[in-house]
Amino acid sequence: MVLKSVLFFYLIINSTCAYDFFRDAINLIDQSSDPCDDFYRHACPVGDYDFLVLMKYAPIFKELETSQEESAWENLKIEEALNNIKPGEIENEISAYFERVFLDMCQNNDPAMTTFLLRTQQMLSHEMSTKCRAENCLLRLGGDSNCTRAANDFKSRVAKKTDSSHYQEYVLKLRENIAGWKNKTRAVNILLDGNFKVGVDNINSFLMNMVDVLLQWIQVYKYIAKNPFELILQETPWVNDQKINRALEAVARDLFVIDEYGIQLRENIDALMKTEQDFLKCSADFSGKHDLFCSIYSYHFMFNGRTTTVLHFGYDATNRHPYIYFGMPFIARAANSEMAANLGLAGYVVGHELSHSLIENPSKSYLLPYSSAEAINCIQTQYNNTCAEFKEV
Ligand SMILES: [Zn+2]
Repeated sequence: MVLKSVLFFYLIINSTCAYDFFRDAINLIDQSSDPCDDFYRHACPVGDYDFLVLMKYAPIFKELETSQEESAWENLKIEEALNNIKPGEIENEISAYFERVFLDMCQNNDPAMTTFLLRTQQMLSHEMSTKCRAENCLLRLGGDSNCTRAANDFKSRVAKKTDSSHYQEYVLKLRENIAGWKNKTRAVNILLDGNFKVGVDNINSFLMNMVDVLLQWIQVYKYIAKNPFELILQETPWVNDQKINRALEAVARDLFVIDEYGIQLRENIDALMKTEQDFLKCSADFSGKHDLFCSIYSYHFMFNGRTTTVLHFGYDATNRHPYIYFGMPFIARAANSEMAANLGLAGYVVGHELSHSLIENPSKSYLLPYSSAEAINCIQTQYNNTCAEFKEV
């Protein structure tokens, strides 16, 4: 990062630390309406604005992203090739496109024809070697002096293996995967460049504090007969009724905020660079003349499992018990020193995610199967009794 960028981030991140979210929210209040008529609309009027935190951090994330523009994974040749495809100039059906390339090479005695056949053979057999079986062995087609006959045979074998797919399907899938891997790579780099890691630690501390409070409630209940906390205890009698004190404690103690960002970075960069390398090797074989073919080639060898996601840009959080993870807006916000807004936003969401482990969907209940239905019922009854303003329809 050049000095100018370092200074920019220092200033912008520091100004966000001092930024007062409450003032921002207060500025939105609709002073012309009476809070007694509709307090909600008075405080949060309908308007053309997004979540305040998103609006505040989006330009900062954008700037951090721009500072990474020079990175190798932001400048992939395969992406350039995909962007250069001119739809009208290529046959839709992949076998027809391959046939044309083959016929052209055959008729012009192109020395690259053997490599083209080998690459196609590897693609059809998902095998990066010269090994092949029966109909996938294409090299011998190169020895046929009748190019039209060989091209026909070649086409039908490709069609059989590719289910007559259209090339756009491959292009779309490649674009989608590349965009996903890049996004996850960017997220980790923005976390590092923006010094937001402390936000993750703060969120984890919120969680640990909440779990401590929760455990106190449960423990105190055990001594209900002889201590002075009876009033507090009576707020959670269902825990005892269901005899889930121990189970609940174990589930709550399990939880943590995951921070395996190094793994996310490595896996996503690996996936990106593997696809790029396969493409580059293939492209070099044909001096860049058949880059669509090479994109489809690398598609056949790309990583098609799920790469790690513990960090993303969404305005949400996810519970994958025993761990939970948060979108960048919450993490960036929690890296901020303003504690009241931290608790009101990131802290509130931590509580929500913790509750997902304690109260599950009764039809998919794995952690506390005996109490979730009862708990949900209790919450719903409470909601129905108290939330007249926002009654569900
Ligand atoms: Zn939720």
